[in-house]
Amino acid sequence: MELVERIKEVIEKYDICDECLGRQFHTIVPKLPNKEKGRIFRTYCLLNSIFKREEIKFKKIETCYLCNNIFNKIDFYVDKVKKKLKNCEYRSFLIGSKIPEELISREEEFWEENGVDFCEAIKSNFNRDIGYYLRKQTKKMRDFKNPDIMAIIDIEKNEIDLQISPLYIKGGYKKNTTKGKVQKIIENILTKKSLASEPVFYSIGRLEQNVKTTCYRPFVIMLRNPKKRKLGLKKIKQEINKRKSVSVSTLSYSDREFLEKTKNEKITASYLVVLEFSRKFKKEEIREIRKKLTGLRNNRVLQFLKKKTRKPYIRKLEVKIKEKNLIIDIESTVGFSINSFLKGKSKPNLKKLIGKDFKIKEIILKNYRKMKTHQMYS
Ligand SMILES: [Zn+2]
Repeated sequence: MELVERIKEVIEKYDICDECLGRQFHTIVPKLPNKEKGRIFRTYCLLNSIFKREEIKFKKIETCYLCNNIFNKIDFYVDKVKKKLKNCEYRSFLIGSKIPEELISREEEFWEENGVDFCEAIKSNFNRDIGYYLRKQTKKMRDFKNPDIMAIIDIEKNEIDLQISPLYIKGGYKKNTTKGKVQKIIENILTKKSLASEPVFYSIGRLEQNVKTTCYRPFVIMLRNPKKRKLGLKKIKQEINKRKSVSVSTLSYSDREFLEKTKNEKITASYLVVLEFSRKFKKEEIREIRKKLTGLRNNRVLQFLKKKTRKPYIRKLEVKIKEKNLIIDIESTVGFSINSFLKGKSKPNLKKLIGKDFKIKEIILKNYRKMKTHQMYS
């Protein structure tokens, strides 16, 4: 059947709008907008029939059989999406939609009867149209892979649902106190500035409350549902660094990929631990302690943490003894709990190994090192 015959059949059978008519023949000239195509086809069929002096039996266009006239309301939906996005900061967007089931099944029946060879689905037509005008009016980018925001138009409910991509901020922080978790300070300020619904903090290993750091502990914060994406990170850094308990090195924007990479890195942590005993050590004691502790090098310890068992590996261990103080330099794989190792449930643990109680004067996390697996255990 010739194209003109097919088109004529469709417009004689159905009350169908130009957009939906054009869409049925979309792939013939995809670049020509469906509405334009539909209008040209209809006009051409009309002229052709007049030319052939045929009786014209085209259906009137009142309520489009295929779309229920949603394509006449594109401006309405674009405005609605714009309003919904008014208080959101974003660079890129994507439009999604929930098309009523009834229209989807109508379209499928239509294809069975009239052919599917050149058609485009109503959903992609609708999404593209809204996206086109939104991009024109807002000057934002459409991004099919990683949009900052996805706006989903629910036609039946006449509602717009926003799916906002998380915002990732990375940096490093020093903990200058033995009281509390200072990561909360960073989390809170970023959550407040981004108007996010929730922060999720990721970092390396564990940093226990009584541990200070002299190095910057790398972190990535994922902010869920942020309304703002340009936070003014320089100012936020200054604001955080006014506090004595915490200082951040840099803050910068990051992404999911970086986070995943960070999670899989092989890293070791080095601690400096100062312990105080009730009296000075004797010479033989010193020799014995040294022997026992250095015997832990290149070994794993068994740790029970929050119902989880871990087996961190001790890469290095140096011991210095100064009067009543035992000073330990220790490097382990991450996940290591220094407190558990000193006097907790670790097997072995230092207290049991030495057989004497002590006071923990200071624990400092000195350094992180990235490693390859083969370096880690050699
Ligand atoms: Zn239509």
